Amino acid sequence: MYPRPFHYHRAGSLPEAATMLSQLGDDAKLLAGGQSLIPLMKLRFANPSHLVDLNFVPGTSYINEQNGAVRFGALTRHSEIENSSIGVRFPILHDCAAGIADVQIRNRGTIGGSLAEADPSGDWAAVLLTQKTEIWCLSPRRERSVPLTDFITDAYTTVLEHDELVREISVEVPGKGTGGAYLAFKRSAPVYPTASAAVQITMEGDICKDAHLVLGCVGLVPVRATAAADALRDRRIDDKSVAAAMDAVREAVDPQADMRGSAEYKRTLAAALVKRAIEVAVRRARGERVEVSHIYA
Ligand SMILES: Cc1cc2nc3c(=O)[nH]c(=O)nc-3n(C[C@H](O)[C@H](O)[C@H](O)COP(=O)(O)OP(=O)(O)OC[C@H]3O[C@@H](n4cnc5c(N)ncnc54)[C@H](O)[C@@H]3O)c2cc1C
Repeated sequence: MYPRPFHYHRAGSLPEAATMLSQLGDDAKLLAGGQSLIPLMKLRFANPSHLVDLNFVPGTSYINEQNGAVRFGALTRHSEIENSSIGVRFPILHDCAAGIADVQIRNRGTIGGSLAEADPSGDWAAVLLTQKTEIWCLSPRRERSVPLTDFITDAYTTVLEHDELVREISVEVPGKGTGGAYLAFKRSAPVYPTASAAVQITMEGDICKDAHLVLGCVGLVPVRATAAADALRDRRIDDKSVAAAMDAVREAVDPQADMRGSAEYKRTLAAALVKRAIEVAVRRARGERVEVSHIYA
């Protein structure tokens, strides 16, 4: 199907894009990679009268490290992150970027668009919630930074005001002894995962000093499994603590049955993915180089 007619506007800068949103009103939407918005427009689930294109704004796609944080411009494509050197030192970012859909979608889709879309099945939010992540937002009135923990408020809903856009994503670089891993289970590459698990662990010798576990696709927003993290924190990572974390994950998630599987199937899957992700995160925390890829049905 073709989208309904709309007016196309090309922004020359991010402040200009925010001003355009403000002037064009509620019926205007930003266009980044178009990998969520354009399919929704073609299905006529989204019918904006005005599209404000960010793709020609210079300086919006970058990855740099400053003051202990990695900063991503909002229009940094998934594939740029997949192929960047940052993925070697911060492998959970590579796990995520390299696993999103297929190469065409990764070449167009952006990290800023993904977080702004707040799709419950999206990969970036689950991964970045295991990290200290700030979203820098810009509107004609102000610039503010919002912790990712407060940014997504519901399925497809964020704190962004109508004329506010994501300018930058800032992720604190984890300290020594910390490792992360992200695994998803998918029916095939160009579909969203059935369930996913992001794990970040800090080890001191054999003891887990800190843990963050987030599950994707098993709730209206990514599920932060705090009881599962508590089951690991200040303990040895062994069969007993991992089994306790898996039990806590089964309790924490709230999956919906759909074409990808029953709620019980997804609950079991989430716990199994967490187990595998913990194993990889611990090995990475110990300095091992471990490559993983998503699991395909
Ligand atoms: C077949 C298919 C499979 C996919 N599989 C996956 C998958 O497995 N995992 C996954 O995570 N994603 C998947 N995606 C989605 C893809 O990752 C998109 O890139 C992402 O969801 C949206 O990014 P975008 O840049 O394309 O945003 P767009 O589609 O351009 O925009 C999405 C929304 O965000 C808003 N927006 C965009 N940029 C900004 C900004 N800077 N500030 C504020 N609002 C903004 C837009 O107005 C729009 O409402 C898939 C998409 C398709 C078509």
